[in-house]
Amino acid sequence: MDYALVTGGSRGIGAAIAKRLASDGLGILINFRSNEVAARQVADYITANNGIAELLPFDVASESEVDAALEKWEERHPEDRITVLVNNAGIREDNLLIFMQTEQWHRVINTTLDGFFYTTRRVLKGMLTKRNGRIINIASLSGIKGLPGQSNYSAAKAALIGATKALAQEVGPRKVTVNAVAPGYIKSDMTKDLNESELKKQVPLNRFGEAEEVAALVSFLASKEAAYITGETISINGGLL
Ligand code: NDP
Repeated sequence: MDYALVTGGSRGIGAAIAKRLASDGLGILINFRSNEVAARQVADYITANNGIAELLPFDVASESEVDAALEKWEERHPEDRITVLVNNAGIREDNLLIFMQTEQWHRVINTTLDGFFYTTRRVLKGMLTKRNGRIINIASLSGIKGLPGQSNYSAAKAALIGATKALAQEVGPRKVTVNAVAPGYIKSDMTKDLNESELKKQVPLNRFGEAEEVAALVSFLASKEAAYITGETISINGGLL
């Protein structure tokens, strides 16, 4: 069976992506770091809707945890393969750069960027061998235009977009595509502390987006129909520039 690995699949955008890709017929590996209860709820939803889902906890920023978890999964699933990887796990720790703590800088960069590197490197092997794969990186509008108070997050997401473009060129000959999705304001735990009624005035469509709307775009990029799209960053932000 073909599987999709969704990092940070326990909550928010990742949970919506996991559910959507399951309804597209993929088995789902729901990765998370600590919130097993939420991850279990996503898995239960998928299985209740006749899908296949498995929890795969690891910290994407830990090379040894990533490698060990995927090694064990492959041992348990010799007939199955991961054909879709969604690098979605991410955190925000906003602060003006002048006040930013060293740990805040590194935690955000390590989760997004090291997480992309460790997970993708491990999963890519199988995709290259089978000459089939879709890698979708969840970036952000913040990585395109930069947002004050988010120099760590903007740097991490901009770097992720750069890596998307580079890797797309490396693996294109093996029919593996690599794209990024750059959401604007999307309703989730990550944005629940924001003043939605004020901020939505900046958005031409006058609302925050839904995680399911991001999931629909990821579903398209993961599909056969998107086979000729690679190295792209597709914005989904209600027109916010
Ligand atoms: P949430 O805070 O709702 O969920 C974050 C998810 O990432 C959780 O599943 C969490 O797992 C997981 N996670 C965090 N750190 C790690 C780690 N080290 N290893 C494994 N999993 C981890 O975030 P959103 O759903 O809002 O965001 C998802 C992605 O979309 C992020 O990359 C974010 O930067 C990006 N994004 C979000 C936007 C928004 O407006 N919401 C806008 C633009 C981009 P656990 O449950 O175990 O904590």
